[in-house]
Order: sequence, then structure tokens, then C-alpha cells
Amino acid sequence: SVPAAILSALAAAARGGVLFKGGAALETLAEVDTFAFDKTGTLTTGKAEVTAVIAVDDEAGFLSLILGLEAQSEHPIADAIRRHATARGITPAEVHDVRTIPSEGITGMDAQGAVWAGNPRMAARMGATVDGAEFAALRDTAQTVIWLGRGAHVLGAVSVADRPRETSAAGLAALRAEGVGTIRMMTGDRRPVGLRIGAELGFAPRDVDADLLPGDKVRLVGELTGRGKVAFVGDGVNDAAALARADVGIAMGAAGSEVALQAADVALLSDDMARLAAARALARRTRRVIR
Ligand code: ADP
Ligand code: MG
Repeated sequence: SVPAAILSALAAAARGGVLFKGGAALETLAEVDTFAFDKTGTLTTGKAEVTAVIAVDDEAGFLSLILGLEAQSEHPIADAIRRHATARGITPAEVHDVRTIPSEGITGMDAQGAVWAGNPRMAARMGATVDGAEFAALRDTAQTVIWLGRGAHVLGAVSVADRPRETSAAGLAALRAEGVGTIRMMTGDRRPVGLRIGAELGFAPRDVDADLLPGDKVRLVGELTGRGKVAFVGDGVNDAAALARADVGIAMGAAGSEVALQAADVALLSDDMARLAAARALARRTRRVIR
């Protein structure tokens, strides 16, 4: 049976918005020395805003097509594009057979053929290049850029800016103060974006891993587990495998996806990252009591 000290710790954690799926996760969290964080929707709000639009032809047609694709995605980036287009009275183009390519973007078919939206990796998959002179300013920003294309032809791009959650800096500082040795960021976004958000949150450049596919996150988490207990904190569908691979998978419950919640050992119902450090401190106190 579960020791009373663990039961009361689980209840105390739950009151603070940290739901453990069992006593084992609490005991393991006490030993975690490495935290790996997803960026978008985890360290950042996931409430991105569109900051610029560059359409090769007419902007309304461009927005309608990208809306037709992103209307069918649950990624935080899609949400930003939907809000931007809808606020301008744009109606979505008809796009069917929509498919998500994790950490790359989204593809589909309209009346004229194959269309897609995503990052340069997605463009390359479609035989398109994003090196046009009209996009120079976008390529140089430390913001996320989403390209829209029809086959090998690029139709334009939007930049999207996200910002750290208000509680991220304090939450990370609390983990460091708690004695957590290693804290890393793992993102599917471009490196300049990871470095910019990382700099705001006290990450050294060497602790930021960018341009990752979901499988890369799993591999990196696996490498870290060779050196000690590892927690992965994530929010998205893309993060399920990394959450499962970590010794303790922690899902952002309030904003996170159903799949992430299922793969996780712990759900963080509050957006407040400081609760994580508090939960680890509680886990360590509880371990001292039962040993
Ligand atoms: P993170 O690891 O920071 O949470 P993701 O792995 O979810 O980021 O996404 C990585 C990148 O894949 C995004 O920055 C974006 O370029 C591209 N991407 C993912 N989903 C979409 C989408 N629905 N539409 C366009 N691009 C997308
Ligand atoms: Mg994410």
C-alpha cells in the first residue's frame, strides 16, 4: 500500500495544481536533476501574434489559403494565423485531405492541387526554396516564420512572435535555486528564435537545442537519462514521445493537448512554472520522511 506520507504529498501537490498519476512519479521527481523544456506553449504562452505578412500576389487570397490550411491544425501557430485572418474578415479557402507533418507544418489539397504551410524543412520537402529576395527581412528575424506554398511555388510568408510566459523566468530560477543541475530547451523552432527566448529566460546558448524533429527530442532525452533522472516538460502532440521517454513526463495541462496529457506522469494544471519547483521540493521532503 502507498505510504500515508506519499498520499498526503500527492493531495498537497494536487491542491497546488500539480497532478501526479501515482506515488512512483512523485518519488522519481525527487531524484530529477535535469529538466528539459519544450519551447512553444510550454516556456512561451503559445498565444503568438502575427507580426508581418509578405504575400507574393494579393494578400487576401494568401490569407484565405493559409487560413484554409491552419483552420484544421491545433498548433499554437495555427491559432495565431486564424486570429489574424479572422480579424480581417478573411474566409478560409476550401482545403481538404489536410495532413500534419510534426515540427514541419501542414499539407492539403485545394481545387488546383497540393498546398502547404510550414518551415523551410517543409518547403524543401515540397521542392520549394525560401531564398527569394522579398523574404530577406523575414528570414533575418528571430521570429518564427511560416511559409505558404503551392507545390514548389512559394506564395508568401508570415512571421509569428511568441513571448515567455510571465511565470517562466521565476519558475526556472526556482528550479535552479532548488539545486537542479541542468535545464535545457528543446524546440522544433529555428535556432535564432530558440536563442532569443532562451536569452530572456537565462539559458546559455549551449543549453538550447533547436530545429528538432519529435524524434530528435526523444533521442536527446534518452541521452540525458544516461547521466541521471530527467524530466521533460511539454504541451503538444509532438511532445508525447519525449514525455514518455523521460523518467518523469510533465504535461502543461491547462493549455496542453490530450495526447500529451496521456503520455505524461504529471499534469501541471496551473500555468505557473514555479509550481514545478515547489512540487520537486515537496517530493524531496516526502522522500526524507519515508526513508
Ligand atoms: P516547439 O518544439 O517549439 O513546440 P514544434 O515542434 O511544435 O515547436 O514546431 C516546430 C516548427 O514546425 C514550427 O516553428 C513551425 O515552423 C512548424 N510548424 C508546426 N506546426 C505547424 C503548423 N500547423 N503550421 C505551420 N507550421 C508549423
Ligand atoms: Mg510545444
